[in-house]
Amino acid sequence: MEYTTQMDAARKGIVTKEIETVAKKEKMELSKLMQLVAEGKVAIPANKNHKCLNPEGVGSALRTKINVNLGVSRDCKDYNVEMQKVLKAVDMGAEAIMDLSSHGNTQPFRQKLTQECPAMIGTVPVYDSVIHYQRDLATLTAKDFIDVVRLHAEDGVDFVTLHCGITRKTIDQIRTHKRKMNIVSRGGSLVFAWMSMTGNENPFYEYYDEILDICEKYDVTVSLGDACRPGCLADATDVCQIEELVRLGELTKRAWEHNVQVMVEGPGHVPMDQIAANMKVQQTICMGAPFYVLGPLVTDIAPGYDHITSAIGGAIAAMNGASFLCYVTPAEHLALPNVDDVKQGIIASKIAAHAADIAKGIPGARDIDDKMADARRKLDWEKQFECAIDPKTARAIRDSRAPEQDHSDTCSMCGKFCAVRSMNKALSGEIIDIL
Ligand code: SF4
Repeated sequence: MEYTTQMDAARKGIVTKEIETVAKKEKMELSKLMQLVAEGKVAIPANKNHKCLNPEGVGSALRTKINVNLGVSRDCKDYNVEMQKVLKAVDMGAEAIMDLSSHGNTQPFRQKLTQECPAMIGTVPVYDSVIHYQRDLATLTAKDFIDVVRLHAEDGVDFVTLHCGITRKTIDQIRTHKRKMNIVSRGGSLVFAWMSMTGNENPFYEYYDEILDICEKYDVTVSLGDACRPGCLADATDVCQIEELVRLGELTKRAWEHNVQVMVEGPGHVPMDQIAANMKVQQTICMGAPFYVLGPLVTDIAPGYDHITSAIGGAIAAMNGASFLCYVTPAEHLALPNVDDVKQGIIASKIAAHAADIAKGIPGARDIDDKMADARRKLDWEKQFECAIDPKTARAIRDSRAPEQDHSDTCSMCGKFCAVRSMNKALSGEIIDIL
């Protein structure tokens, strides 16, 4: 039997190799996974032209996935450095890479990604539109934008962020409901500016059905962009954000009617006490579609440490229903991240995702923590490094401040006062020598 998308296949009862792989990875019954894919509660972004993809499922019933943003900008345009970041991200277990390149000829790098990278690849076609045509924003037509979506689909991109949810009504709303930070989404601001300059409706909204036809043909998952995501705590959960979310719910339904898979993007900057409610509202309005959050950052005052502010928010979000975390690096709000920033961002979001999976009771999620506890009790340092999320850093810290020889089984924090050592000795009837 023929199928177009993974959703179409699941609805027809066809077990694709992607569905089979995801079921194995998630230790989930095939029938249960297929039902979730058919209902849109799990997306398996898998463009038919991304031949080397190692597929992953995204949904709140599955392990929380993380995405790494990279790509050249006009100020940092070395594609070799971006490729180093890709290799690092894949090596560290990132499930998705978003190429946000906004300078030069973007197609070769995008094609290299879909030809060589096993992680899901995402893009934001509106960024590419200006550089692809080398024309100013106001001169682009709706057809130009849609042709770039088609180009990315042909190139094998697995998911595209489309800012379909803002309309001409949003222009009035942004002016009426004053926000501290207006629109902070790069793609959202471009669409807003294009609408303001041309007087036309958002092309991604107006020609949504045409876009869905493209996505269905190549099995590109639509990631509904949140142009009005709050860019500071004061703007969180305001009229602009919620009004756009309602439209994203309508657009989710329309995509599913086309058998097109959907993820819905979410905030942003949100105080901790509002995160669970945000997840609940999204899950309800968007009927359980996977929620892809960009943070949320729980305070605005930590530039240089926003991998931490977002990991706190990401853990709470994932525990309450978000299924996909976009990493944030220490360079957020400051500069294009370098390779080390990328590493810090990945570690922080992996910790958030893993902590949430344990809290959600994802089968097997805590196994590695239990192994770590056993290794710690046995003071087995090699095993501890094996279980560590970043073994290299853990080993380097221990080696740099090693304990003295006569208590080398401990660490230099407590030395002979080591509680673990004392308890092991006490429980086995040995003498505890401290002095
Ligand atoms: S010395 Fe202290 S910190 Fe180090 S392993 Fe023993 S109890 Fe833990």
